[in-house]
Amino acid sequence: MVGKGILRGLTTTARHLLETYLDDVKKIPSRYAYDRHFIKQPLEEKGIFTIQYPEERRVLPERFRYVPMLLYDADTGEDRCTACGICAKVCPTQCIWIVREEDKTGKPLPRSQEFYIDISICMGCGFCAEFCPFDSIKMNHDYEIAVYNRYPDLVLSKDDLVVPTTYYAQLYPEAWAAEERAREEERKRKAAREKALAAKRAAKAKAAAKKKDEQKDAGK
Ligand code: SF4
Ligand code: SF4
Repeated sequence: MVGKGILRGLTTTARHLLETYLDDVKKIPSRYAYDRHFIKQPLEEKGIFTIQYPEERRVLPERFRYVPMLLYDADTGEDRCTACGICAKVCPTQCIWIVREEDKTGKPLPRSQEFYIDISICMGCGFCAEFCPFDSIKMNHDYEIAVYNRYPDLVLSKDDLVVPTTYYAQLYPEAWAAEERAREEERKRKAAREKALAAKRAAKAKAAAKKKDEQKDAGK
């Protein structure tokens, strides 16, 4: 039938319009009484309503990613990054530069002296975070990074990039919980390995002592 598609399209548009109003009315007063800086609209909601940015902002889903950030351990203050350079190698836009720290003799140390990311060409792919073997680089949720000058303002240094692990835990509660579980498992495995090794060493020492005693007795 001629115009069937148009009719279907118009029906869908009308349904969305209706759902938007119904949803909006259903959420009164909670939607409007809510802290206007953190307006919530769960993804499963059908209605769509305008957010008055920048006065209002949506709460971002955990999987949201923007530009990278570097983590340091909130308990020890130690950087997680070992300057291995994997993130720089896998970065498709080649926007990461790392200078590894060296000791007085020129021996490389497992930490970075300088770490830069040119976020004007970072495409937010998250490869760096995906491939980092030390869970050191993660994707930040902060999207308000507009500046007047591209250079040098969009070339972020280590000082601009570092954040504590507590900040990461707050942005990524599920991922953080999963990583904590994995770390706990690893701690348990390590403790079991060390215990088994200690038992093996003790048994070896006991056997050696016994052999020594036997040799001593045989020599009498
Ligand atoms: S952020 Fe991760 S992958 Fe990049 S240099 Fe540091 S430890 Fe290596
Ligand atoms: S998010 Fe992608 S483009 Fe940006 S620094 Fe990481 S790997 Fe490079």
